Amino acid sequence: MADTVLDQLLPRCDVLVDRDTHGPIVPLSARRGVMVHFDDSSSDRGALSWFRDPAFRLSYNRAYRDDGTRIRITPSIHHAAYHAGVCLIERGVPTQALNGTNFRYGGANTGYIGFAVTAAAHDRVTEPQLESLAIDIAVVFRAAGWSPEDVDYRIVGHDSRAIFNPRDNPTEPSLWGQLGRKIDPTGFDPDNPVVDLGQLREGVRTYLYDTTAPVWHGWPS
Ligand SMILES: [Zn+2]
Repeated sequence: MADTVLDQLLPRCDVLVDRDTHGPIVPLSARRGVMVHFDDSSSDRGALSWFRDPAFRLSYNRAYRDDGTRIRITPSIHHAAYHAGVCLIERGVPTQALNGTNFRYGGANTGYIGFAVTAAAHDRVTEPQLESLAIDIAVVFRAAGWSPEDVDYRIVGHDSRAIFNPRDNPTEPSLWGQLGRKIDPTGFDPDNPVVDLGQLREGVRTYLYDTTAPVWHGWPS
């Protein structure tokens, strides 16, 4: 399936691309999976103004508002979003050198598609947000030809990959290379997460196994 089809297969979204929000187009076959975030906004209105700020060099392939509606902040879903920053080196993710240093890291902006719920660290994802997110990830799985059995390792949280590094943490060299740079999408309390990845993966699995689910309708043969 041609990569360009994915934007048409996914449920519709608003598009917000009015600044430098993206890297190159990455073929779906070169993605390891989907990385989940919350954007740390205090309200959906706040999230939107933040996305519009030209100085804000952060973007997501899709963001999910509290009511479940979607926004794309890259020209297409196939462009690399600026969502992950410096992450762990792992198989399936290109290794890069941090500008001006010998520090090497996993370039998760291209390794993963970046999806975010608009929420802050003390919030809880809403049901419509989780639902939209699960549907879209299931569509990505189908388009990429990924197995439902891969749900656990292809759906990851930013906190499980983002590492301390010389650029973001110049005064803490002892932490470079270690996890802990980001807390999203879990938040402060792992027992009460903003986004429960287990619940999200279960939702994605349900859509992938249930051929009466919405993600199976209107699919080109
Ligand atoms: Zn994040």
